Amino acid sequence: MTKVLDHATAAEAFIKDEERTNWHDDTLWFVRQKRDLAAHGVPEWETLRAWASQIKNHTLSKMDEYLVQFEENARANGVHVHWAKDGDEHNRIIHDIMKKHEVRNVVKSKSMLTEECHLNSYLAKHDIDVVDTDLGERIVQFRKEPPSHIVLPAIHLKKQDVSETFHQHIGTEKGNNDPQYLTEAARQHLRNHFIESDLAITGVNFAVAETGGFVVCTNEGNADMGAHTAKVHIACMGFEKIIPKAKHLGVFLRLLTRSATGQPITTYSSHFLKPREGQEMHIVIVDNGRSRQLGRKDFRNSLKCIRCAACFNTCPVYRRSGGHSYHTAVAGPIGSILNPNLDMKANADLPFASTLCGSCSNVCPVKIDIHEQLWKWRQEIVKEGYVAESKSLAMKGAAWLFSKPSVYRAVAKVGLSVMRNMPFMVNNKLNAWYKQREMPEAPKESFRDWYNKNNK
Ligand code: SF4
Repeated sequence: MTKVLDHATAAEAFIKDEERTNWHDDTLWFVRQKRDLAAHGVPEWETLRAWASQIKNHTLSKMDEYLVQFEENARANGVHVHWAKDGDEHNRIIHDIMKKHEVRNVVKSKSMLTEECHLNSYLAKHDIDVVDTDLGERIVQFRKEPPSHIVLPAIHLKKQDVSETFHQHIGTEKGNNDPQYLTEAARQHLRNHFIESDLAITGVNFAVAETGGFVVCTNEGNADMGAHTAKVHIACMGFEKIIPKAKHLGVFLRLLTRSATGQPITTYSSHFLKPREGQEMHIVIVDNGRSRQLGRKDFRNSLKCIRCAACFNTCPVYRRSGGHSYHTAVAGPIGSILNPNLDMKANADLPFASTLCGSCSNVCPVKIDIHEQLWKWRQEIVKEGYVAESKSLAMKGAAWLFSKPSVYRAVAKVGLSVMRNMPFMVNNKLNAWYKQREMPEAPKESFRDWYNKNNK
C-alpha cells in the first residue's frame, strides 16, 4: 500500500511551482467572487440559507423515517433500492448488477460517493471499463489522478496540461490549447462511449422522501445522456442526500449553483422518478460512516453538506495547497471534518490544515459551523494521541509559558532581540514555517512596550 503523506508534506510538491500556486489561488478566488456577486443578487439569500439549514437539521433528526419513506416510494415507482453499509458493499452491489446484465461498458457521471468508495478501481479489477463523462473527471481519469476539487475536478491543471493529455489519449493536435477545440474533441470522444454503453451510473444531489424521486445536477448534461441511452441506470447516494419534500428543492437548487460557481442555476437539474419503458433503475443508498457521524453531536451537522465547494474556493489553505494535498476523496474544509470520522488516525493531519479564519462557515449555504468543527476535531485528535510528540510537547511548553506572565515577558524580550539581530536562528531550513514564506522584519519594540509608553 502506498504511504499516505500528511497534508503539509504533500503540499510541498504543489507549492514548489510558485507560478502555478498563484494561478490556482487566483482562479479559485475568482470563483469565490462570482459566488459573492450571485449571492448579493438575491435579497433573500440569508433567509434561504437559514431555511436550508433548518430543513437539513430537521431531516437529520428524522433520518430513519425519511429514508424508509423514500425507499417505499421509490420501490412503488418501480425502482430497485439497495442499502450498503460501506464502500465495499456499495461496490459489490453495483458489480452484481453488472454481472447479471453481462455489462462491460459503463459510463459514469460525476459522483464523489463513487470516488469515496473507490468504485473505478474495484471494477477495473473485474475487467469492467468505466468511462467518466464529466469533462474534468475524464481529464483526471486519463492522467490516473483523483479529482482535486469536488465541483471542478481538474482545477489544478492548466489548458496546456489538458491539451497534452488529450493529445496523448485521444489524438488531438499537439500544442493546440484552444479550449473550444479541446472541448469539442472531448465531446466527440465521449459521444461514442454514450452510444456503446450498457449501463450508466450517476450520483444524486437530492433525494425526495415524499416522491421517491431524485435530482441530479450537471452543467454538461452528461448524466442525462448516460441515463437516457443505457438499459440500466444506477444512482448512488450517501444517505444524507435525502430531503423531505419536493417543495424544498426550490431552496436548495437556488443555493447550490450560486454557491458553487456563481451561476444562477445549474444548466441541467434533472429529475428522475421511475425507469423508462424497458429500462431498469437502481438506487444504492450508502452509509459508509455516516451513521457514526450522525451520532457525534459535535460533528453531525457536517452531514448537512450539499457539496457546493464554496468552502474550498474561499479557503486560503486549500487555494494555496491544492486538493491532492488532502489525500482523501473529499478535500478542503468540509473534507477535513468528514474524513477524521472515517479514519481518525489516517486523517489526523487534516483539521490542522486550516487557519480557522471562519471564511468557510461564512459562505456555507447550509450554515455548517465548519471552522468550529475543525477546532473540535483538533481536540479529539489530541485526546486520542494522534498528534506528533514534538507538537504535543511544544503546546505543553506554550501553555506553561502563557500561564507565567513574568517568564513570558522575559522570553518575549529575548525572542525579539534574536529576531532583530540573528534572524537566521528563526528563519532557517529546520523551520518548516519559513520554507515558503518571507520572514517579516521584526519591530523595534514589542507591543507591550509601545502600549506602556503611549498609554500613561
Ligand atoms: S460544507 Fe457548506 S460550503 Fe462546504 S461544500 Fe458543503 S455545503 Fe458547500
